[in-house]
Amino acid sequence: MGIERNWAGNLTYRASRLEHPSSIDELRSLLAQGGPVRLSGSRHSFNDLADTDGVLIALDALPPVFEVNEARDAVRVSGALRYGDVAPLLQAEGLALANLASLPHISIAGTVATGTHGSGDALGSLASAVRALTIITPAGETRTLTRGEDDFAGAVVSLGALGAVVDVTLDVEPTYDVAQHVFEHPDWDAILAQFDEVTGVGTSVSIFSTWQRTDIADQIWVKQRLPEAHEAARESLFERLGAEAAAGKRHPILGVDPVACTEQQGEAGPWSQRLPHFRLEFTPSAGAEIQSEYLVPRADAVAAIQAVRQLAGQIAPLLLVNEIRTVRADDLWLSSSYETDAVGIHFTWKPEEAAVRALLPAIEAALPPTARPHWGKVFTLDGAEVRSRYPRFDDFAALAARFDPERRLVNPYLERLGL
Ligand SMILES: Cc1cc2nc3c(=O)[nH]c(=O)nc-3n(C[C@H](O)[C@H](O)[C@H](O)COP(=O)(O)OP(=O)(O)OC[C@H]3O[C@@H](n4cnc5c(N)ncnc54)[C@H](O)[C@@H]3O)c2cc1C
Repeated sequence: MGIERNWAGNLTYRASRLEHPSSIDELRSLLAQGGPVRLSGSRHSFNDLADTDGVLIALDALPPVFEVNEARDAVRVSGALRYGDVAPLLQAEGLALANLASLPHISIAGTVATGTHGSGDALGSLASAVRALTIITPAGETRTLTRGEDDFAGAVVSLGALGAVVDVTLDVEPTYDVAQHVFEHPDWDAILAQFDEVTGVGTSVSIFSTWQRTDIADQIWVKQRLPEAHEAARESLFERLGAEAAAGKRHPILGVDPVACTEQQGEAGPWSQRLPHFRLEFTPSAGAEIQSEYLVPRADAVAAIQAVRQLAGQIAPLLLVNEIRTVRADDLWLSSSYETDAVGIHFTWKPEEAAVRALLPAIEAALPPTARPHWGKVFTLDGAEVRSRYPRFDDFAALAARFDPERRLVNPYLERLGL
């Protein structure tokens, strides 16, 4: 019998038990019991990546860690903490992270393990901020890996396949403010004709579309790090896109109350309250939904968006909203932006999983063969095909085999990938 559901409620975990060890020793003795095991974060993934037939372990009862280093350019934090827990502590220290995802509700270890990202031409995935991490292997050994060391680039986006990530050291920088503007009804042809200019107009840019219409998108959200507001460039670009500034606060999903969203209309605020679209104290996004996302190399982005646009008639009836974001390249083996600046084409679907799964093969076939599905969202691409899109996958498999020689962390999801 399943013990718990994921955040979206589309998955009941098959795990027989959910454990919350309150010390590292207790975590080690749970691991020592043998049998299949997986780690759970805040359970925001939409697929069975975190599931197991054995014991699911959540690290949220371990004593929290929050330690800023002497140089004040890094912070060591518990893997189980959420970005929304850490952000105010950093802000109180006058410090900041370079990037955040659309929501602050997700655990740091789960976020990093899946290559979760926000948006920004110059901003890497959240995993790219990891400087070091401490992993307890299934055999109970402690391994600390630091950027630059062998294995590190393979161990960050780990799919939970190496062990329990108990703490993570993240790059930090002095705090900064961000202002957020929303523009409505930009012309799609104009966006695609000057795509680099559109995504480069802010520190972080998101293009939202319901694909109810294919001539215009719904909204473009622009988050600009202050004081570099580039107001004139922004206004002139949006004029050329035929877009108008939103008259009030907006939610990405049309018709949903924007109370859950971070402040817009150019009101300056700290990084932690502008980079996410959603506020910690509210339900992010729609709540009842499923998500899919494919990341394509930047050079393939316009063709990929055009392919999705061609399928608008099939996509729109199931869609709550489509979001396009950008991610800077990194060197993390299983990152969806591994060695390529990437563009994420994300779908927030109505909670109709069977219909979504029936449609995904058409989308996956239309996208360029370079598209990498988000590890934590729903996709139907064959595991061998996914694996072939990661040049270092075999190295990752070898790394996982060294950390977990008894394959206790290998669940059906990882088996489908060929691990
Ligand atoms: C409303 C919503 C909005 C989202 N927005 C974004 C977005 O803006 N950008 C984006 O890229 N994604 C987004 N996602 C996807 C989400 O970021 C990922 O699914 C992410 O993995 C969630 O983290 P989690 O802690 O919930 O992970 P879980 O789903 O709990 O776990 C995911 C993976 O991490 C592993 N893991 C978790 N904790 C540990 C640990 N301590 N040690 C080892 N392995 C561990 C698990 O075993 C599993 O393999 C969104 C999801 C939702 C529900």
